Amino acid sequence: MNQARRPLIAGNWKMNHGAASGVQLASDVARTTAAFGSVDVVVAPPFSALWKVADALQGSRVELSAQNMHPKASGAFTGEVAPGMLLEIGCKWVILGHSERRAMFGESDAVVAEKVKAAMDAGIRPIVCVGETLDERERGDTLNVVKRQLNAFLSIIADKPGFAAIAYEPVWAIGTGKVATTAEAQEVHAMIRASLAAIGPAMAEKTRILYGGSLSPKNADGLLREPDIDGGLIGGASLKAEDFSKVAETAQKIAG
Ligand code: PEP
Repeated sequence: MNQARRPLIAGNWKMNHGAASGVQLASDVARTTAAFGSVDVVVAPPFSALWKVADALQGSRVELSAQNMHPKASGAFTGEVAPGMLLEIGCKWVILGHSERRAMFGESDAVVAEKVKAAMDAGIRPIVCVGETLDERERGDTLNVVKRQLNAFLSIIADKPGFAAIAYEPVWAIGTGKVATTAEAQEVHAMIRASLAAIGPAMAEKTRILYGGSLSPKNADGLLREPDIDGGLIGGASLKAEDFSKVAETAQKIAG
């Protein structure tokens, strides 16, 4: 982490927790992270729980994120949710380009870029995910793949330096318990930082680059101490307030 950027710890609940248990989890997260004033904390419940969780988070420091969004403002898109609808219920953030959406729902770099543009235009802060598969890593293609994914949206987030965040999530580390080593993660984060610097110094200084992939209280300290890792996007360990807030606590200690 670097003192220039506030750490950001975000929980991606995926398709877990309906409104009732989601309100409980969000309230527990609000309570257990309340003292970590140096850390920005975000939770991303499923769509159906957003409204009630937004209510439960009123008055807390925890901000709300969606896990996906349609790029259009309205229309005949059955089953989809528009940027304005998310804003209306208090979503400040949206996770875009998660590897599960890329792999299972066919989201290409171009689709991700279109969504990033729609979020930026609407004033919703995107957390844009990038990351290589195990095959791509084993072929030595990690940096090329991540660069290709980045290049699809970097110029779009350049309008407002620091508004968007980027999450490096090696696909082989997501939900597997196999975490990237600090060196593996830092190598990719440094490349992302250099790509941001090529746009301009403000982009490099202000954009938070999160690590995601089996991040937990056990491995957070090492990863969050790396100079270009500014926080985490957490799946499994965000489903228990205790584990999630321990990662936020680690970020708070390192940030000082
Ligand atoms: C994720 O899906 O964004 C993620 C990082 O999941 P996990 O922490 O479970 O690996």
